[in-house]
Amino acid sequence: MRLLLTTSRGIEDLARAEVEGLFAKLGVPFRVEERPLGVEGRVSAEVGEAHYRDEKGRERELSIPTYLNERSRLLHRVIVGIASERFKGIEEEEPEVALKRIEDFVASLPVERYVKVSESFAVRGFRKGEHRITSVDIARTVGTAVFERLSRFGSPRVNLDHPAVIFRAELVGDAFFLGIDTTGDSSLHKRPWRVYDHPAHLKASIANALIELAKPDGGSFIDPFCGSGTIPIELALRGYGGRITCLEKFRKHLRGARMNALSAGVIDRIEFVQGDATRLSEYVDSVDFAVSNLPYGLKIGRKGDIPKLYMDFFRELAGVLERRGVFITTEKRAIERAIEENGFKITHHRLIGHGGLTVHAYVVE
Ligand code: SAM
Repeated sequence: MRLLLTTSRGIEDLARAEVEGLFAKLGVPFRVEERPLGVEGRVSAEVGEAHYRDEKGRERELSIPTYLNERSRLLHRVIVGIASERFKGIEEEEPEVALKRIEDFVASLPVERYVKVSESFAVRGFRKGEHRITSVDIARTVGTAVFERLSRFGSPRVNLDHPAVIFRAELVGDAFFLGIDTTGDSSLHKRPWRVYDHPAHLKASIANALIELAKPDGGSFIDPFCGSGTIPIELALRGYGGRITCLEKFRKHLRGARMNALSAGVIDRIEFVQGDATRLSEYVDSVDFAVSNLPYGLKIGRKGDIPKLYMDFFRELAGVLERRGVFITTEKRAIERAIEENGFKITHHRLIGHGGLTVHAYVVE
């Protein structure tokens, strides 16, 4: 089976390592590739069949997409791949020409192997890059081609609101992918535990990527700007045994973090502290790991306050951090100055896509 897995831009290597670990646990043969056809935020996998024994001792096939949907912390979508193709020059083509190429390609694919004609279906389109066609055009065109193909085998049914099967058609630059989206319409990063929606919350997939970069090994852990608690909650959900602290200046957000932790079933695993991260040493004498999505001054607060906020925070952090810190922000200059002037060393830097933004992630020691 071929799978197309989606995640955030810049964390494909971490998603790949997670998926390889999950396949290794199943004992199936696999080959995982980062950025198939050069597309960011994508990982593809070729994986063999897995089996389990049911309660009556009969051997059953295990659904690998279901297994990934349930276990992964870094993926957004699990798509059973039908086909992929490079459409050279499609970016500049007239809409009719570009859509005809897509339609002819899809019409030639054996989509009937992936869906029963009696099941209702819908096509969701996704597009990224410069094109003269929209994602709606792509969904409509692919939908027509799938419908006509399935009509050879019976009477297909389209249901755009509540389809039994979702086809996903992606055009990223000149790379086209078609598959069955087993995740459904809500991406996996939208966690069911989120009952309080912080205006600048972090995607849970990125929270897990930051945790992977910090490599916490049971030592004490703090998110000093914890907002709605995404990082501490995701860490607690991994069954982390060490002490976890969620520090936040504003009562409203801290209350939201508590509500989220309650909904996630980990409220007893996290200490919630209302306080100012620029006075960190008043709340903790020492901490092994600090991981945070810093304020950027975009949605909350003012951009002009950021350099001083970061400088004051890293000065405090220098007095308490024992092992490793991982931080993300859009404010490259301000964070690099604060890191360096307070005696930290940057051991790793990468760019991560978060919504429409590209954020800088730093590991410091
Ligand atoms: N990762 C969080 C989440 O997923 O909900 C969002 C963090 S948000 C980018 C930054 C948070 O830092 C905001 O909730 C803001 O209220 C808080 N904050 C701003 N200044 C602070 C300070 N001096 N001390 C502690 N928290 C602060």
